[in-house]
Amino acid sequence: MAPHDDQPEVKVEAMASEALNKPISTIVIFIAMHTEALPLVNRFQLQEDHDSVFPKGVPWVRYHGMYKDLHLNIVQPGKDPVLGVDSVGTVSASLVIYATIQALKPDLVINAGTAGGFKAKGAAIGDVFLASEVAFHDRRIPIPVFDLYGVGLRQAFSASNILKELNLKIGRLSTGDSLDMSAQDEASITANDATVKDMEGAAIAYVAELLKVPIIFLKAVTDIVDGDKPTAEEFLNNLTAVTATLDETVAKAIDFLNGKCLLEI
Ligand code: SAH
Repeated sequence: MAPHDDQPEVKVEAMASEALNKPISTIVIFIAMHTEALPLVNRFQLQEDHDSVFPKGVPWVRYHGMYKDLHLNIVQPGKDPVLGVDSVGTVSASLVIYATIQALKPDLVINAGTAGGFKAKGAAIGDVFLASEVAFHDRRIPIPVFDLYGVGLRQAFSASNILKELNLKIGRLSTGDSLDMSAQDEASITANDATVKDMEGAAIAYVAELLKVPIIFLKAVTDIVDGDKPTAEEFLNNLTAVTATLDETVAKAIDFLNGKCLLEI
């Protein structure tokens, strides 16, 4: 399965032409970690929602506001109620994006965040990737057809003009619930032909597909998985600088999206 950016037509054909041709109005940006979201919240002067669209008592957070013609929303899984750390990973991401899409009916979901990158596939620290496809690498079910269900390969909405305009790199994203990488994960990531690795993308893609909302992924590389530095240490060292790059890229993407319809992105 070679990486490619030339198969968006499947997705485009599946969507009603009315939805593809109307100006994008409501955008939901899912960001797993508070550090990653804060520069964007400040840049767009978004306000925290106090009359929450979410169930009472959950730690999920929504920031919202208008920017030009766009209703912007940044949603986050928030802090784990017991441990106080960001609720990263697929379970909380799925729940938050499900509740968000149900409540806000966005025209487009953007999953923005950090990721590990593979230098053997051309990734370097600070690169921002647009994901062409997403898949899981830790859902091994060695029974025919269930194996494919486990991998859960899905295409991102084709955003070839964003790719060009923002001069991004393109590659496949592989998702699993661990920051580190076991030998089995590594084999699956290789089979997925992934260039970047995260902990939420494929789960969000699953929900977006169920609820028929187009989704794109902007992933900035904080650590090189096939390099010589320990992942957790490299991730923490680069988090602030790479988050600034992610902020710039998402801001440019939002500017580009303003006034456009899905067919033009
Ligand atoms: N110790 C960190 C934990 C963050 S988990 C902390 O300060 O809280 C890593 C987050 O960044 C996840 O949301 C994941 O999507 C992304 N990420 C960055 N590098 C990754 C990698 N190499 N593998 C998997 N996810 C990565």
